[in-house]
Amino acid sequence: MNKKSLLFASSEVYPFVKTGGLADVSHSLPRALRESYDVTVVLPLYRLIDRKRFNIARLESFEITMGENVYPVELHGTTLDGMEYRFVYAPLLCDREFLYGSAECGYEDNAERFALYSYVLREMVRREPYALLHLNDWQCALAALFIKEDTAIKAKTLYTIHNLAYQGVFESSILPRIGIDERYFTMEALEFYNQVNYMKAGIAYADVITTVSPTYAKEILTPEFGCGLEGFLQFHKRKLHGILNGIDTDHFSPATDAALIECYTSAKGKKASKSDLLKQLGLKGVTKPLFVFIGRLAHQKGIDLLIETLPKMAELECTIAVLGEGGGAYGDALNAIAERYANVSVTSGYDEALSHRMYAAADFLVMPSLFEPCGLNQMIAFAYGAIPIVNRVGGLADTVKKLESFEEESASGFGILLTSATSRALLSAVKKGCELYGDKKRFEMIVNHNMRCDYSWSKSAQEYLKLYQRVLK
Ligand code: ADP
Repeated sequence: MNKKSLLFASSEVYPFVKTGGLADVSHSLPRALRESYDVTVVLPLYRLIDRKRFNIARLESFEITMGENVYPVELHGTTLDGMEYRFVYAPLLCDREFLYGSAECGYEDNAERFALYSYVLREMVRREPYALLHLNDWQCALAALFIKEDTAIKAKTLYTIHNLAYQGVFESSILPRIGIDERYFTMEALEFYNQVNYMKAGIAYADVITTVSPTYAKEILTPEFGCGLEGFLQFHKRKLHGILNGIDTDHFSPATDAALIECYTSAKGKKASKSDLLKQLGLKGVTKPLFVFIGRLAHQKGIDLLIETLPKMAELECTIAVLGEGGGAYGDALNAIAERYANVSVTSGYDEALSHRMYAAADFLVMPSLFEPCGLNQMIAFAYGAIPIVNRVGGLADTVKKLESFEEESASGFGILLTSATSRALLSAVKKGCELYGDKKRFEMIVNHNMRCDYSWSKSAQEYLKLYQRVLK
């Protein structure tokens, strides 16, 4: 039987371009679905993408009318590891330095850029009979509206919220420029405190909505985590589902990872990675526990907590390595701490290979996120044998079981849970980590257990397939 066709639309996809977990998910989830669907993945052809390296070639050109303007658009394509990729090229969308803007501030014309992207997605569905369009985050959200309002299109839409903190909210004056009629500027549709909210279009018009963990699906219905959309999500909650993300266990595998000085399959095999990283970062203390933080330097990630706690952590018998991108003032504060303490290293910027070497070297991953829709770092840490220290929110609550309840038969990974999102709780969790590290036998038993568990997409992909089936009935 012929497979149904699925267009998976994202604003970033690894290995072409990545700023965070969305790119990882857009890389690995479509691969987990392709046995059941004919999957094509689409993303903008940003200037950052290396066309030559990935053999990206032009396929067709057309024009898109948006408001009073006509935009020339090119569709490019490539095949990578048997996966079909399409790239949308339009100067407005693609010809600039970053994807969304600098760390401090998004591009002024992001509203137009990603509205145009959504019009192109509709055009793609008009040209090719995709049965289903899987849309991700605010950048693709308007496509749900455009497709629902085009009665000639039969395709269904599934919309995934990866992070409710980024909704794509713009001045209402953009409406004529993005060609959207005033009648959509209502509470039931795009209006949000007198502004235009793109994510609302995804929530209101998609046939089904998912978010990236069961706990986050509940949290976003509350004022504490709902970012102002809790009421709107309550209204649409019958079509909201929480499905946990997975990781690409081929890419994130210490047994085969080319970035590592020595591959390994158990706790004992991590030694070479640890010595190598410490040397590279100018740190001493191979016998002491190594704590790492890897992530965006953003409030969400608990950076304020980390900065407050780091000097006290540095007084303990341990070493600490931080890798983070963005956040000017946060970066300055972290660097100032690194200058004061010889056992603290801070690397600014985005470095995929270094991040792999850090997961491999680490004894513990510190991840004190204040909220975390799913989080991938803790699963990558499990796979590389670093014990995560996390705040019990969102996907962290769904993936990290508390150490005190450790049992070898469990299918889950174990880590240290903060008792609250405070500096005191973080310090106490780090001390707990140091103690555990001192009990070598137990420490290695837990690390080995965590490394053996399954963090792949296999289970979650089945849940997506069930939802697809339901929506296509
Ligand atoms: P986010 O909220 O940033 O999307 P996730 O936990 O979902 O967070 O995914 C983060 C992904 O980005 C992981 O693969 C992590 O290893 C990677 N990452 C984050 N910051 C960096 C960095 N500075 N350098 C390299 N990789 C990073």
